Amino acid sequence: MNEPLGTTGLVLNEPLLWEKGQKGRCGYSLPKSDVDASPLDAKFVGEGPDFPDLSEVEIVRHYTRLSTWNFGVDTGMYPLGSCTMKYNPKTNERQAAQHGLALAHPLLPGKLSQGALQLLYELEHLLAEITGMEAVSLQPAAGAHGELAGMLLFYAYHQDHGSPRSKILVPDTAHGTNPASASLCGYKSVGIKSNEQGVLSPETVADHMDTDTAGIMVTNPNTLGLFEDHMKTIADIVHAKGGLVYADGANMNAVMGIVNMLDVGVDVLHLNLHKTFSTPHGGGGPGSGPVCVSKLLEPYLPVPRVVKAENQYRLSEDFPKSFGKLHAFYGNFGVMVKAYSYILSLGADLKKVSQLAVLNANYIKEQLRDVFELAYDRPCMHECVFSDKRQAAHKVTTLDMAKRLIDYGFHPPTIYFPLVVPGAIMIEPTESESKEDLDRFITACRTIVAEAEKSPEDLHAAPTRTRTRRLDETTAARNPCLTG
Ligand SMILES: *Cc1c(COP(=O)(O)O)cnc(C)c1O
Repeated sequence: MNEPLGTTGLVLNEPLLWEKGQKGRCGYSLPKSDVDASPLDAKFVGEGPDFPDLSEVEIVRHYTRLSTWNFGVDTGMYPLGSCTMKYNPKTNERQAAQHGLALAHPLLPGKLSQGALQLLYELEHLLAEITGMEAVSLQPAAGAHGELAGMLLFYAYHQDHGSPRSKILVPDTAHGTNPASASLCGYKSVGIKSNEQGVLSPETVADHMDTDTAGIMVTNPNTLGLFEDHMKTIADIVHAKGGLVYADGANMNAVMGIVNMLDVGVDVLHLNLHKTFSTPHGGGGPGSGPVCVSKLLEPYLPVPRVVKAENQYRLSEDFPKSFGKLHAFYGNFGVMVKAYSYILSLGADLKKVSQLAVLNANYIKEQLRDVFELAYDRPCMHECVFSDKRQAAHKVTTLDMAKRLIDYGFHPPTIYFPLVVPGAIMIEPTESESKEDLDRFITACRTIVAEAEKSPEDLHAAPTRTRTRRLDETTAARNPCLTG
């Protein structure tokens, strides 16, 4: 059971098509033409690209071999902290690919789009129920876009109340996109420090909160995988000075059906449908980052909004206080279909998703705490954060150990993030890994720690069982070669 997953057999090299091609090879055979050739006028078409000539089997093997160099959640464990690389059930893909949904055109009149509109309407209500919030817009295209929507909501609210403000509080345990989104909206972000327990202290927030501060952006659970347990007190401090509370809910997979965000004082929360609600991601999209709000901020939500009247669904622009539009039509519909399918297929078991995600992360934390330095010694949520502090004596770094994990058949965890932990190793197993796979991962980590003590030079050379050895990341970043 604890055999390493990594192997080198039948991992084939593959050159570029240009290196592989031989003049005259052909991927198809057509009957000889019985009409005279009539060349296109070179004046109009020019020389044309110099495509290589290849046979059919060469092409098929080329792309199939390249596909075997890829690693995804369907290949194996992908414990990339913060990213929630969990298994995405195939039924969700199947539902999103149904012709009636996949081919629905956004310009069709509402009366021919009742099913699609009903799905959006119901998804908004399901997300409101899961989070405890009171209204939802599905428009934002990703997490960071949801953050921008949140900041635009803050802005619209303060403007409407005649008190435009200039600053936002952002803790050091927030996701890096938070201060970026605040800046994009024209706010100045004011960094505040987390305490020795890895969470925000109400006193620190009180020290910084004033009437020129629009509010606070709290990632909860935060990027250390810890729950901000003073959330309600912090929200009260911010509200008392007329500010608003934004929660980055990209880590909602730890607390679904467990924490009511409205009750802990949140005014705006964004979700990452592509993380928590099962859409394959990591290749660049499409994603979806809905914003969920309290009644207080509902008037400012982006238009159009899906409304229901007399059993008919339609998109309405009739919200005079709305801050406007964020996305063409109504956002990335396919991702919403997958989220809807995921939520309906799990029902009340969504809560179990969160419980398992938290259980798995705590299991890894407990099984590795005697070999890795634990950044904060307290129960974690869906991810745990270690560091390379104990391996420093052997001159072995987080990067060396992450590279060595590849040799053992695991995608490395997130490394050197969050920034508050030097040499961070951030592991998010997700709820979809079995105990056997968690144990394999734990064994691989423990083997690597033993190697770090006995033969650190082996780790400096890792990975050694892969097609490509360790890359020179500095040169790759400073002097990128973009042509292959
Ligand atoms: C992933 C993530 C984001 C950003 O989401 P994108 O969809 O990549 O824009 C923001 N906050 C947290 C906590 C995240 O984990």
